[in-house]
Amino acid sequence: MKKHLMRVGTLGIATMLLGSHVGASSWDHTLSSQGSDGTLWANIPGPASSNQANLLLPYAECGIGFHQSPIAINLTSSLVTTNPKTFSVDNNPQAETERHADRLIAQYARTNSTTEGTAISTDDGNAYVFLNTGHAVQVAFSKGYPGRLLVGRDVYPLVQFHFHTPSEHIVETKSHPAGIQYAGELHFVHQREDGKLAVLTVFLDDSHGSATENPILKMIIDHTPKESEHHPAFNSTGAGLSLDPSRLIPLESEHVFAYAGSLTTPPCSEGVSWYILSEPSRVAPDQIQQLRKFYHSNSRVVQNTNYSNTNAQRTVTIREHLHVDQDHDRDDGSKRY
Ligand SMILES: [Zn+2]
Repeated sequence: MKKHLMRVGTLGIATMLLGSHVGASSWDHTLSSQGSDGTLWANIPGPASSNQANLLLPYAECGIGFHQSPIAINLTSSLVTTNPKTFSVDNNPQAETERHADRLIAQYARTNSTTEGTAISTDDGNAYVFLNTGHAVQVAFSKGYPGRLLVGRDVYPLVQFHFHTPSEHIVETKSHPAGIQYAGELHFVHQREDGKLAVLTVFLDDSHGSATENPILKMIIDHTPKESEHHPAFNSTGAGLSLDPSRLIPLESEHVFAYAGSLTTPPCSEGVSWYILSEPSRVAPDQIQQLRKFYHSNSRVVQNTNYSNTNAQRTVTIREHLHVDQDHDRDDGSKRY
């Protein structure tokens, strides 16, 4: 088993018991690009500027929710917390059990597309497709794909991942009080059996020059159909290509920011667990430009954090680093595509 562990962050692990689970929600970038009032989806405002039009279904939650995404994560806020048990004595068996139970592990298996595959969300052996949804560049996996995110004992199968330019979330630090907005943001979308969603987020940083071209991103851009905009979404199977999603994750990330939020596209359903890596992945400036040729700006504006709203009781928790367990099923050979 090929495996690498990221550096253990000093801030340790924490649980996130924020917000309420709203039940099964679909993450659908193939929804119509406009609200019923003609609002472009990326510009659908949050509660702070809600108006009558936003209360019309199916966009009701976009306008009235208290746990909307994306947000600006303010690291100097007292409501950005670490969990006290982080600092418990290491040789306490109970603490050790809790620590283990809360681990965050990404297990994304390398997988091959097939030459015959056609539809997504089937068990026909087509492991993934490159998808132009009309809103985003996306890679969608079949139900048989073994990649998953482990949050303690919870298992969240990887359903798809997609890109936003520029980044949706913003990170405010002491040295950057106005916030850092990266060139792009990658969302790994996972859905548990009961419908609960968890999104692992990786920022894309294009400020390190052309030598930082990411080969997996290149493969995705090269194979994503250029046509789009209308149903049904265009897809391509990239016959025979092997895809390892973990290559899009940075080798080291000191922290993971966790909070309870929503889909950033209509219907903006809440109950989504967000896990955001503090360290971005480096990509070439050209790659961001190529993504922007698909969709110049497909990011929702930041929403009210509602830190001080008693109805929201919202905080951001800084967690232990993410473990990336690459090709977890490669050795036994039984589950390979
Ligand atoms: Zn997204």
